[in-house]
Amino acid sequence: TWSAVPAGPPDPILGVTEAYKADKDPRKINLGVGAYRDEHGKPYVLPSVKEAEARLSALKPDKEYLPITGLAEFTQNAALLAYGADSEPLKQGSISVTQSISGTGALRIGGAFLARHYPNSKIIYLPVPSWGNHTPIFRDSGLEVRGYRYFDKKTVGLDFEGLKADLLAAPEQSIVLLHACAHNPTGVDPTQEQWAQISDIVKERKLFPFFDMAYQGFASGSTSHDAFAVRHFVSEGHHIALAQSFAKNMGLYGERVGAFSLTTTDPDEKARVNSQLKIVIRPTYSNPPLHGARIANKILGDKALYTQWESEVKGMADRIISMREKLYSALTHDLKTPGEWGHIKSQIGMFSFTGLTPPQTKALAEKAHVYMTADGRISMAGLNGGNIEYFAESVDAAVKG
Ligand code: PMP
Repeated sequence: TWSAVPAGPPDPILGVTEAYKADKDPRKINLGVGAYRDEHGKPYVLPSVKEAEARLSALKPDKEYLPITGLAEFTQNAALLAYGADSEPLKQGSISVTQSISGTGALRIGGAFLARHYPNSKIIYLPVPSWGNHTPIFRDSGLEVRGYRYFDKKTVGLDFEGLKADLLAAPEQSIVLLHACAHNPTGVDPTQEQWAQISDIVKERKLFPFFDMAYQGFASGSTSHDAFAVRHFVSEGHHIALAQSFAKNMGLYGERVGAFSLTTTDPDEKARVNSQLKIVIRPTYSNPPLHGARIANKILGDKALYTQWESEVKGMADRIISMREKLYSALTHDLKTPGEWGHIKSQIGMFSFTGLTPPQTKALAEKAHVYMTADGRISMAGLNGGNIEYFAESVDAAVKG
């Protein structure tokens, strides 16, 4: 029956982890996967998450189904975290929000809802490059995927002129996907002034902004600072779609905790939108998982736990920032590695787009047992006091050839 089914290509990111696992060298480093590691290179369960779990299990909660749109208290708290207490649509009760299967599920619900109900366009513009899963998510949702310029290889920074030109040239009313903070894979974010200009262009071209916020708090260490773009757009009167993930900022990767929301005009419109979100979700997975949403809700809803969580997010962000400084200094000052490495310090969030070429990344894997994606992206969280010197020396050797 399946003799005509062609073999599909392996996932480019998960393939890196497989190669890493097969390598027996004790010096090996995995910088492929986008998951936080502590200073010993180990996965990190946040103490606030452990505390929330302990409190939950003491309550001996049941395992009943959640409603289609998930745990209502959690989704309200998630919206508050993203939009902020001053948000007009939040105060008016006009944000339609549903729990989702982490960020991926939020993007997919959003894609499917827009494909069905956004009346003005079926075209979505993604930054080039973008997270590798964006294209298949939106294509499989039934949208036409196009790109807008984002990254400038020459400056290893934002191609702001290209971005503006492409958004100005996009057909009116197209959907535009924006990474709210900590752009993956480049680590390059617009400044607040640039966000304000992007907001103006989106308004001028009547584009529909769809924010992907997978790293709130993880970029700067402050959840409100990282929500700047989302809150600015909302305060400028845009209606937005928003995908939230709690994978990175709460370290809840495998629990699959997220939320999808849309700002609407009034509570009546919200009720109609809500009913259609349910019609998208019900035949897809019926209703979302319980445990992770309860954990996130405990943290977001308890003042002391929330404060503790914020300091733990800041701890993760700060450790990554200190690795950026150490790597920059090792390459620039200690090893005098040819090239300009300032971007390693200025890039934001979990990833750095190093500018290493595919042959250099290949040499790093084969000769130094250092694994990263072929585009030269490294997960900064994979570096620590124990391996950063070896990593810098290996990069130096690969660059000097
Ligand atoms: N968007 C971006 C930009 C991401 O980097 C990720 C995680 N790699 C996601 C969404 C979704 O991740 P998850 O489904 O694990 O929340």
